[in-house]
Amino acid sequence: MSYQIAIDGPAGAGKSTIARKIAKIKEFIYVDTGAMYRAMAYFLLSSHVDPKDAQAVEAECVKADITIVYMDGEQVVLLNGENVNSVIRSEEVGNMASVTSQNPKVRERLTVLQKELASKNNVVMDGRDIGTCVLPGADVKVYLTASAKVRAKRRWDELTAKGISCDITQIEEDIVRRDQQDMNREIAPLKQAEDAVLIDSSFMTIDEVVQAILDLCK
Ligand code: C5P
Repeated sequence: MSYQIAIDGPAGAGKSTIARKIAKIKEFIYVDTGAMYRAMAYFLLSSHVDPKDAQAVEAECVKADITIVYMDGEQVVLLNGENVNSVIRSEEVGNMASVTSQNPKVRERLTVLQKELASKNNVVMDGRDIGTCVLPGADVKVYLTASAKVRAKRRWDELTAKGISCDITQIEEDIVRRDQQDMNREIAPLKQAEDAVLIDSSFMTIDEVVQAILDLCK
């Protein structure tokens, strides 16, 4: 049986940074499920599909073959054979992902892939519905959150460090809107699983959060 660590939470809570570190320490694979939803959103954006048109999204999403491979321990998302890691991180793709991820067909396709990865490997998997839907039997479940202000500031720092100029108020608005969408959708909404441990990282360092999760694995 594989060992499964599920980390869910809202946008910008630090899930991927934390999950990546834990995966390295425990020598597990890191599965960033948000990147899969982003790759699908990128495909649908490129196809000029109206994200609100559920039928069009459904018809188009079956043309996207999304797979995951690992290069030097890093997850690479392949969309129809092409590495899309560098084009899926924009706010535009993230916002599109939050809308298109509401579609049942999109979720079905990606969930199958996620379950398969977790059945064959020890995983740290992060997302919105991992503890509740994808891996309900996970060995460790964490709901990682932080205040919207702190999350916006972290995102602003990250973008500014890359030389991208941005408006912190706009980022906070985007974060709050995305949370609302993710928490209130019909299928697999973002919520804390009953048996998940809540960690609020607003005033914690990355290493403190990593240690708290490692302690839960003991
Ligand atoms: O985590 P990230 O910001 O990359 O996720 C992008 C979007 O993908 C989220 O806002 C959410 O709508 C969707 N998503 C999801 N289920 C997951 C992971 C991400 O619906 N397990």
